[in-house]
Amino acid sequence: MANRTRRAVAATGKAVAATQKAVAKKAAMAPLATLRVLGDPVLKQKARPVTEFDARLAKLAETMIEVMEREEGIGLAAPQIGVLSCVLVWADPEDRDQVRVFVNPCITRQSAECSSAPEGCLSVPGATVEVVRAEAITVKAQDLDGVERTWELSGLQARIVQHEVDHLEGRLILDRASPEERRRVLRELRERALAGGS
Ligand SMILES: [Zn+2]
Repeated sequence: MANRTRRAVAATGKAVAATQKAVAKKAAMAPLATLRVLGDPVLKQKARPVTEFDARLAKLAETMIEVMEREEGIGLAAPQIGVLSCVLVWADPEDRDQVRVFVNPCITRQSAECSSAPEGCLSVPGATVEVVRAEAITVKAQDLDGVERTWELSGLQARIVQHEVDHLEGRLILDRASPEERRRVLRELRERALAGGS
């Protein structure tokens, strides 16, 4: 999810203190780090559950965090870098923007109370769409070691996680918009592309 910069300074500092070996490893991972945008078919596909909690999974999460921070987002799902695995990362606004990794997240409860707010998405650059979401959710997710935890989230936390879980199901904010709003956003994106903007 796109939003104001909410950098996890500690995590970035760690990444900067990289050895040459780590730098080489990062270079080898570079193709993974390409952000996929609207029109890329991978964004419409459903991600597959993770079954191996290995070094490859940890590397994927690391790359996702790098991309999220590079793009100044507050959430990112694996399909957004072309990987159809049920993994999302997000910067928790309630905890000094602590970056969390959710593997195989499953929303088990949604509050009846909903709220509407504008959302941006790193995969739909330049667009803002009004999206109705549950105000509070219960979500079960595993960590990089496969340990499951249940989270009670509300407000912006709940909104970010619902947005990213949508990505894992092949849904974008445009799929949540009213037909009028969808038309408006697509028209704006087209006009911007014609004007030579990005
Ligand atoms: Zn998004």
